Amino acid sequence: MKKLALLGGPPVIEGLLPAYCSVGPEEVEAVADVARSGCLSSFYGSWGDQFLGGAKVKAFENAWAEKFNVKHVISVNSATSGLIAAMGAVGLGPGDEVIVPPFTMSATVVSPLFYGAIPVFADIEPDTFCLDVKSVERALSPRTKAICAVNLFGHPAPLHELRRLADGRGTALIEDNAQGPLAMENGRYAGTIGHLGVFSLNYHKHIHTGEGGMCVTEDDRLAVRLQLIRNHGENVVEPLGIEDITNLIGFNFRMTELSAAVGLSQLRKIDRHVPRREKLAETLSRGIAGLPGLTPPKVRDGCRHVYYVWAFRFDEHTVGCSREVFIRALNAEGFPCWGGYLRPLYFLPVFQKRIAVGSKGFPFNQSEVSYEKGLCPVAERLWEKELICFETCAYDIDDVRAAKLVEAVRKVYSHRSVLAEHAPSASSS
Ligand SMILES: *Cc1c(COP(=O)(O)O)cnc(C)c1O
Repeated sequence: MKKLALLGGPPVIEGLLPAYCSVGPEEVEAVADVARSGCLSSFYGSWGDQFLGGAKVKAFENAWAEKFNVKHVISVNSATSGLIAAMGAVGLGPGDEVIVPPFTMSATVVSPLFYGAIPVFADIEPDTFCLDVKSVERALSPRTKAICAVNLFGHPAPLHELRRLADGRGTALIEDNAQGPLAMENGRYAGTIGHLGVFSLNYHKHIHTGEGGMCVTEDDRLAVRLQLIRNHGENVVEPLGIEDITNLIGFNFRMTELSAAVGLSQLRKIDRHVPRREKLAETLSRGIAGLPGLTPPKVRDGCRHVYYVWAFRFDEHTVGCSREVFIRALNAEGFPCWGGYLRPLYFLPVFQKRIAVGSKGFPFNQSEVSYEKGLCPVAERLWEKELICFETCAYDIDDVRAAKLVEAVRKVYSHRSVLAEHAPSASSS
């Protein structure tokens, strides 16, 4: 076999992988149409027809509702906005606790802080990287007001199980489904199994509107609260005769007509884009199956994984070299990947210092909830030692390139003893 590119040999993949672009002539036309109309957004921040947005926004929400088979859809200008709105909609207040995973984009875990609530971290499963129900059970307290499950990398968290747990305690289950459009658990779409689900439409996700997000719910009351939080609800609670105005001072989380027009077009393409990622992931997973020490991503029974990221586990003891040198060798072969996904989020200064909204007198500053090292050992181990991630969503990869990616992994793997000499793993020293 050829010499490793890391050591001066020829790389398996020459040059960069082509970037993924989901935008075509349809989106250009849709944007031009809206631009010609002169009306780039139709929202109005007081009660009336336009309180709920313009024609494109409404059409996009309706199309989303039909696609995901859900009663209410509330578009927003990002999933971050959607998560903040969701935390307000379920009625979080100072001192309430929200159970979150440490392995997710930071917006999931900081969104409760806007309401003075306290994020409580539960650990994740070692093979799906989503919340572990047992760990969630241990994290529950009389103050738990919500559980926020993340369908990480496009694999559903144990959503039905978490929903039963939440319902049994009168707790809300929020789904951060930013990475999982079309993912499914037991025949239902991820995002629609919790009381409230949030999708992302930022540039890096399966489909996008530049920036954007979608909140979905079956619950009439939550839907109204989301609409109010999205658009200066304080102006509207009086005409609507709403008595419980907790958290209904609103934001401007409104989506533009331009974004909604793009979204309508993108939504029509989702059934083409997502299966391409699934096929790529299958090729990669099959390609590394059977190599001792490398474990392809698990798909739990009854689930559809949509592979926003394809992530496999690396066991340095079995492979015999460190994860870091293995990744360097893969990168040199032209396979872009990185280790660990991200540092478990409780290590962020906002948790270590317990400062968010001012430094004194808030429940978060005074809480005894732990953010110490060792809190979520599975997430820490995946970050420090085991996980290798490939951002499937960033690239446009055909069958030939998919085969090359597999070849790169197999080439590096077959040279693992050379790599071990190059940079030995902790265990072999
Ligand atoms: C991307 C992402 C978000 C934030 O989405 P934005 O639309 O960029 O605000 C939140 N949670 C997860 C898990 C994400 O991947």
